[in-house]
Amino acid sequence: MPIAKKPTRVVKPKKVVKKVPPPAHVPVEKVPYTQENATMCICTRCPVQAESVCAKEKVRVMEAMMAKGMPEGMMPPPADLSGLYCATGVATCKDLDFNKMCICAGWPVWDKCKLGDSTPAGYFCRAGRRTNSDLRAQNRELRTETKAVRSM
Ligand code: SF4
Repeated sequence: MPIAKKPTRVVKPKKVVKKVPPPAHVPVEKVPYTQENATMCICTRCPVQAESVCAKEKVRVMEAMMAKGMPEGMMPPPADLSGLYCATGVATCKDLDFNKMCICAGWPVWDKCKLGDSTPAGYFCRAGRRTNSDLRAQNRELRTETKAVRSM
């Protein structure tokens, strides 16, 4: 008489979800999106944007707006500004040249906002800037994902 084969147990592959460790130095808060910081921002003089038709057009529009007189404290939508990426995140212009050197370290807010401790440190127009609250949100998402995987 043939021996009945024991049914093989199906083992679900475990999905490894790694918690994102906070970098050694993480900025606590975002750079404030203010007229004062926008005025001091040096992104418009950066070689990364020097050949960008898109960035030049935004500068032209902004200069025209400023010439008309911009109310104190008023700020345009972040997408209209070709700078302050450390506050707003990735640039909307797609013709930037990241082979050129980021000059962020030269602006007055660099030290004050500990931009050198950011992730990444510089080239915020390319990758944005993560803060503690961004990392907390990311870890919350990962915890939710981990719970969902474990309950499968
Ligand atoms: S974030 Fe850095 S690389 Fe990007 S435009 Fe500003 S100074 Fe240049």
